[in-house]
Parts: sequence; C-alpha cells; structure tokens
Amino acid sequence: MIGLNHAGTGIIIALTVRRPEFAIPLALVSHFVLDMIPHSLVAPVRKYMAPYLVIEAIGATVLTLICMIAFPSLWLLIGFCAVAAYSPDFLWPFYYKSKLGSKPFFREFFAFHKKIQWSETYRGWLVEVLYFSVVLIFLTTYKI
Ligand SMILES: [Zn+2]
Repeated sequence: MIGLNHAGTGIIIALTVRRPEFAIPLALVSHFVLDMIPHSLVAPVRKYMAPYLVIEAIGATVLTLICMIAFPSLWLLIGFCAVAAYSPDFLWPFYYKSKLGSKPFFREFFAFHKKIQWSETYRGWLVEVLYFSVVLIFLTTYKI
C-alpha cells in the first residue's frame, strides 16, 4: 500500500494500543498485512521508483507530524509506530540500486515482500483511496 496508508495505520495502532512494547511490533506487522490486501500498482517504471518513494515519505511524514501535534500526549509513540509501519518500504531503493537484495536474509526478505504483493493492480487505487478515507475519518474523530 502507499505510505500514507501504512503510516496512518501505524498512527491508529499507537492511539489505540498505547503500550510501546505491543504497538511498535504490531505497527511493523501491519505493513505486511496491508501489503497482502489488493492495492495499487506503484511506479511500474523502475526509474520513477526513487522520486515516487520520496513523495510517499513526504506525505507520510506530514500526516505523522499533524497527528503528533493533534495528540501531544502520544507524540513519541505515534512517531515510532508510523516509522515502524512504513519502514519496510524504505528498503526498496536498496533492492533496486544496490546488491543488498542478493545478501542472505535480505534476499529472503525481498522475496517475501514481493510475493505478498500478489494483488497489485491499477484499479487498486480505489482500495487505497477507500482505505485512506477510513484512516482519515478515524483520525479526525478520535478522542483520547
Ligand atoms: Zn511494502
């Protein structure tokens, strides 16, 4: 899924779970669960992958900063959970631009991360938009 949805899910986990020892690992696991849901095909041309990931990171960062300000008592956990929920996608540039993808552990990690995204389609943008709508409704109506 796109970075906004990963970060938004991490933020929701931070707000609802509130205990770092559970929330941060759960946020990391949420990344792979969301990637299993049919979602958008992103950057089909590899040369646009890096600029696309930068735009995604900016969107996820802005959402995270707004939520850190909106829920000041949980700002640190929100930050950690948003990063944990988005972090596996930080590794994609290393997969395409370095030999990291051929090293032990990372080879299996990238194979797994690719395999679970079996359902990427252009129509998946509809799922992304619907999911983000739910995230936005939750975040704008949530009371601590
Ligand atoms: Zn991913």
